[in-house]
Amino acid sequence: MQYRKNKKGEDLSILGFGCMRFTKKGGNIDIAKAEKEILEAYRAGVNYYDTAYIYPGSEAAIGEIFERNHIREKINIATKLPQYLIRNMAAVNKHFDEELSRLRTNYVDYYLMHHMTDVAMWEKMKKIGILEWIEEKKKSGAIRNIGFSYHGNTDNFLKILNDYDWDMCQIQYNYLDEVSQAGVEGLKAAAEKGIPVVIMEPLRGGKLVNMLPPEAKRVMKESGRNWSPAEWGLRWLYNQPEVTVVLSGMNSVEMVRENCRTAASAPAGHFTEADFRTLSEVTKKIREKEKVGCTGCRYCMPCPQGVDIPGIFRCYNTMFIESKSQGRWQYAQTVGLTKEPAFATQCIRCGKCEKHCPQEIPIREKLKEADRAVRPLPYKIGINIARKFVFRKSR
Ligand code: SF4
Ligand code: SF4
Repeated sequence: MQYRKNKKGEDLSILGFGCMRFTKKGGNIDIAKAEKEILEAYRAGVNYYDTAYIYPGSEAAIGEIFERNHIREKINIATKLPQYLIRNMAAVNKHFDEELSRLRTNYVDYYLMHHMTDVAMWEKMKKIGILEWIEEKKKSGAIRNIGFSYHGNTDNFLKILNDYDWDMCQIQYNYLDEVSQAGVEGLKAAAEKGIPVVIMEPLRGGKLVNMLPPEAKRVMKESGRNWSPAEWGLRWLYNQPEVTVVLSGMNSVEMVRENCRTAASAPAGHFTEADFRTLSEVTKKIREKEKVGCTGCRYCMPCPQGVDIPGIFRCYNTMFIESKSQGRWQYAQTVGLTKEPAFATQCIRCGKCEKHCPQEIPIREKLKEADRAVRPLPYKIGINIARKFVFRKSR
């Protein structure tokens, strides 16, 4: 494992464990499986574990695992305050205390204001008294480092970054998003301040692995590098010295091993000109295909009308990245045949989802377009018949 430094000179593993995507069993996190994955990562030197108040069951699961294995003091826990739900300091205290209790600890190593998209959110938090609260918590040792996670545009990122003496920040960044959101400009600005930059969505929710068009895979293969698509994405990040920790939502021991291997062998500056050319060609091939730049982050959910927004976009994109039939088949299974209908046509155009979309997707328009593509008339009829059949049989 390689390490990079935080503001205090402490080591952070360049690979961080994203604790949002643990495997579920009977609706809950499969703790035994998650424990194996976490311990595999811990033994390989991963010392940064990222969770959040709103990741279902995640804080409690990792709290239990760290306590049982007596490793709490040896690792860093990063968790987040759902600032978008907060109206006063009583709510801040309530959420923080609950998080400590779920995590079975009395301190958090990295505490983040979750999902900031606009400086107005930070202004609101300051207005209710968050600055004094942070000062008090840092003094008491309940919070070791304070930061924010970010999904808005570059301008607002720079405003938030420059408004406070942060200890770290977390941004979405990958080779497809080099200039969107905080982007490379935000990354460099944060690094210049000497704060660690933690990267989320390094593989765009798995898209840079599972949904790469065959042409893009071919470009990688012909490069002469024996790197998997995941490795290309992670290496591109590790190559940049401004990147401190790259989060990966690992949910198998094999994935942990592969990512640890990559993290151990990818120093800053190891990319050649030819590697950059390869990824630029790959990006071109992906962009040629994709119809909606949805990362599957689910910040737009739940839709009050039950529309499965990311699910519909994923299938729509699959039609163009893989094949029409594959996209429609996936749609029939994952959207068409859920018990509660989740069709785009249920949208009443309230606009709630668009306010939360970090990618600024015109969701209402794109849903209409996607529905026409994934559910042409014969499919619509077929899915309706199948629904009647499946749900009548299951009653
Ligand atoms: S605009 Fe449509 S999809 Fe978005 S939240 Fe409202 S009903 Fe749901
Ligand atoms: S539509 Fe936007 S908010 Fe919703 S999942 Fe996609 S990227 Fe995330």
